[in-house]
Amino acid sequence: MNHFPAFLDLDGRRCLLVGGGEIAARKLRLLLKARAVVTVVAPQVGDEIADLAARGEARWIRRGFAPEDVSGQAVVLAATGLAEVDELVAAAAHAAGRPVNVVDRADLSSFIVPAIVDRDPVVVAISTAGTAPVLARRLREQIESLLPAGLGRLARLAGSFRGAVRANLADGNARRRFWERFFDGPIAERILAGDERGARERMLALVNGRVAADEFSGGVAIVGAGPGDPDLLTFRALRLMQRAEVVVYDRLIGPAILDYVRRDAERVCVGKSPGRRGWTQDEINALMLRHARAGRQVVRLKGGDPFVFGRGGEELAFLRRHGIPVEVVPGITAAGGCAAYAGIPLTHRDHAQAVTFVTGQGKDGDPDLDWAALARARQTLVIYMGVAAAGRIAARLVEHGLAPTTPVAVIENGTHPDQKVVFGTLDRIETVVRANGIRGPAVIIVGEVVRLSDAVAAMPAPARALAG
Ligand code: SAH
Repeated sequence: MNHFPAFLDLDGRRCLLVGGGEIAARKLRLLLKARAVVTVVAPQVGDEIADLAARGEARWIRRGFAPEDVSGQAVVLAATGLAEVDELVAAAAHAAGRPVNVVDRADLSSFIVPAIVDRDPVVVAISTAGTAPVLARRLREQIESLLPAGLGRLARLAGSFRGAVRANLADGNARRRFWERFFDGPIAERILAGDERGARERMLALVNGRVAADEFSGGVAIVGAGPGDPDLLTFRALRLMQRAEVVVYDRLIGPAILDYVRRDAERVCVGKSPGRRGWTQDEINALMLRHARAGRQVVRLKGGDPFVFGRGGEELAFLRRHGIPVEVVPGITAAGGCAAYAGIPLTHRDHAQAVTFVTGQGKDGDPDLDWAALARARQTLVIYMGVAAAGRIAARLVEHGLAPTTPVAVIENGTHPDQKVVFGTLDRIETVVRANGIRGPAVIIVGEVVRLSDAVAAMPAPARALAG
């Protein structure tokens, strides 16, 4: 190892920064975050440093560097971009025995500044010992995507309860187990989801023994898994799926998504499958309740977004009523996923100022919709669960004044490798669905925006005319 990894405590200590450009400004920001007392030496500085100096957050000495500037400094940073000045700074710092870093000049530096992922107070530092800064940045991007944004909040909450936990749990092993469970548990999840107050209250109750640890650890996350492509999972969905003890999922959730669920989690498919009827909502609710009450982390995985035609609202209300901690994680809804993958903008300044999601299925049979409102121009309709009733829906829209030639796209298995997109006009929708063997899951997009799809644009002119 070329360098000894360490984190410096610069709180209240004097630091010298030589240089006034863009890179110097970046270093200054970092030094100030670490609460260093910074002197900038440079004949000229950019706006940011000038502002910080004007506000008294740093001191700016407006002149060239002089070797005596390094005296009394905890660290010296040079970011002038001028080789002769950088060399002068390094020489002065070395002579005075001061740690020095010169940007992009490992040969002149006694320490290097790593690439960082900042989730203050958690900081991850990455160094390639100056061999490959671009690789360091790549790694940083990867780690950025792994660490939840609220990690700092989580660390601070844990820190603020350390004393209390130590007082309540004398045994070191018991304390370690407590924290291991804590970081995997619902309080941690709550704080990552942004509910600092709720997390603090629950933590207090837990530490004060008002709740049994086991009873406390159960909970349900109602998670939107998106329309099918696993790349469209959110970071939070992924984290919860990898932590879940039980995963309750619908028919719409394909194997590509289930691959991301923790290997040893219990998986329950509550959708219809060949030879088995689907579970009723009451049965699903009872199942989630039973597992959560047994102290398990349950993920209720739903296609798309749980709050868009997903009965997520009913499940949330049910679990809340029974005092189970619940969290809802949004997902990309089928309309968004299908439109993006088919190249159809849902709104457009010239063609559609509104977009409406409707269901093609009522409680019993066809839906009872406000057809007149839906038939109005300058909007886009996205019909979910509409394949079976497509012809009847189109007829109602035309009856209420929507032009029969309005372009329509049907997107089946959107975002999946076998996605199918077919085009037509409102009056021919039933034929289009039949002729192409569309069975679903599919959404039907109705509106002028359909013409903007790349696929329509790429069609030969006669087909384009046919498509609307
Ligand atoms: N909560 C889901 C919708 C569930 S209702 C969401 O937000 O997307 C089920 C309907 O969603 C299906 O009948 C179909 O209309 C639509 N759907 C779901 N996934 C789809 C996909 N990958 N491609 C096309 N339509 C899809």
